[in-house]
Amino acid sequence: MAAPDLETIVSLAKRRGFVFPSSEIYGGFASTYDWGPLGVELKRNIRDAWWNSMTKERDDVVGLDAALITNPQVWVGSGHVSNFTDPLVDCRTCKQRFRADHIEEGDYPEIAKQEDGSYSCPRGRCDFTDSRQFNLMFETQVGVVDDASNKAYLPPETAQGIFVNFENVQTSMRKKLPFGIAQTRVSFRNEITPGRWVFRTLEFEQMEMEYFCLPPADREDPAEYLTLHREWIDIRLRWYIDALGIDERALRLRDHSGEELSHYSAGTTDIEYKFPWGWGELEGVAARTDFDLTAHGELSGHQLTYFDEDRGEHVVPWVIEPAAGLSRTAAVTMLDAYSDEPDEKGDKRTVMKFLPAIAPIKVAVLPLSRNEKLLPMAKRVFDVVRPEWNSQFDDTQSIGRRYRRQDEIGTPLCVTVDFDTVGEEGSVGDDSVTIRERDSQAQVRVPIGGLVDVLRERLGSR
Ligand code: ATP
Repeated sequence: MAAPDLETIVSLAKRRGFVFPSSEIYGGFASTYDWGPLGVELKRNIRDAWWNSMTKERDDVVGLDAALITNPQVWVGSGHVSNFTDPLVDCRTCKQRFRADHIEEGDYPEIAKQEDGSYSCPRGRCDFTDSRQFNLMFETQVGVVDDASNKAYLPPETAQGIFVNFENVQTSMRKKLPFGIAQTRVSFRNEITPGRWVFRTLEFEQMEMEYFCLPPADREDPAEYLTLHREWIDIRLRWYIDALGIDERALRLRDHSGEELSHYSAGTTDIEYKFPWGWGELEGVAARTDFDLTAHGELSGHQLTYFDEDRGEHVVPWVIEPAAGLSRTAAVTMLDAYSDEPDEKGDKRTVMKFLPAIAPIKVAVLPLSRNEKLLPMAKRVFDVVRPEWNSQFDDTQSIGRRYRRQDEIGTPLCVTVDFDTVGEEGSVGDDSVTIRERDSQAQVRVPIGGLVDVLRERLGSR
């Protein structure tokens, strides 16, 4: 089961410390959000899962952390200064802003496009501008003099930092083709229309990898290259299912149509999720050919090539790019993990069924009450667990309410310290605790001496 609608998740995320509207005390700011204490852990776990699967578990991919603010020529070479635009239409009367392509796709049924290309609304009150291209890059100024020569850009994607470092990485790491360079980082886009929650924001994290391979012998028939592209599409789709636990039925692949494709692309496939409002993109896997390396080589005068020993010549590698949104993926992980179901007593409980590796908190240690014998023992148990996993200690309210709270933030296991652990008046405790499992609500008793081993068996290492 997934969340029935977006509002349910937005409200849980705020109430439980995953995501807050940004600068709320000043009335907020469109399309910006702050990640709270649990959201930051969730994102970190997803980022780590991606990083592990892309770099640590592979011999052919290495990491990079390129500067955010770079020589502005990087964005000229990449084509972003001239092409990274969306078509924009303003209404002079109601001061609203629309994307022309979204009007044409029917997102605003109240606006009609006329034969002469102008726009109108049925009430005739709106006064629309013509559609014009709007560049999505944020500009900034480097240095104290405010003139055009100091103009720089905030990066709208992480990929270009990878392309301009191709030679540095290849030679310093002595990499042979095929190999990849991976990077996770914040990107900025001056999105024209406000997005839904954290799915489209001005500032968001991306996880991108450029996989460089030998160019095909025949540009017009790059069969092996296209096979490699399909392999990466499959690897990336499986990652959402296996590493994040996303329901397979809520994922699909969508190949870009000829019209959607950039002129240099040999194919792009989106991995899409079934949001409560319809299918939408989580990641694009693009076959970018040699476009970027060639473009940077031409503009900078520094050719970005690789010496192919078999052919005995320098070649420009071709590239496959899986580009995923971390913030969007974290939100999808929340949507998909959500479940309403009966608790032990048959009352409704909300559970976030995160996989243990993704859950922000792995273990909660809960003394049955604040009794003077229970508290010190529970603290001791917490001290045993805490160095191993991200854990919480909670001694407030009834045990039932504390279980509900942990269910709602997706903590896979609760460890309860009760009077059997410490012994009642005159009796000796059994030095054991109860482990309560989030999804089945099953409880097992475990000696404190063996607790870490049992938890490790169920959670994996931290
Ligand atoms: P969209 O069509 O949704 O605008 P895109 O095709 O422009 O996305 P890419 O440039 O391929 O996106 O970026 C890769 C990924 O980065 C996207 O699949 C998405 O997960 C994420 N992403 C892109 N723009 C945003 C944004 N404004 N806010 C949050 N995530 C984003």
